Amino acid sequence: MLKKHKKLTKGRITIPKDLRAAFGLLPGQAVDLEETDRGILIRKHMPSCFVCGSIERVKAFKGFELCGECRKGLIDLD
Ligand SMILES: [Zn+2]
Repeated sequence: MLKKHKKLTKGRITIPKDLRAAFGLLPGQAVDLEETDRGILIRKHMPSCFVCGSIERVKAFKGFELCGECRKGLIDLD
């Protein structure tokens, strides 16, 4: 496993080019930051429902990600 260190610049870091390429992080790619017992995990954004956290059939609408069940629930409210 590759281990590198970087200095923060005003709260920012640059992910080295070789790591971006290895993990398919293209310019504009959203990433998720997750607190773990060992520190902060940075990975490619995985769309998840902002209501229930599900990753099933997630679609974005006006910046909000919703799963199929929650979309159906909203329609049923109408
Ligand atoms: Zn949901």
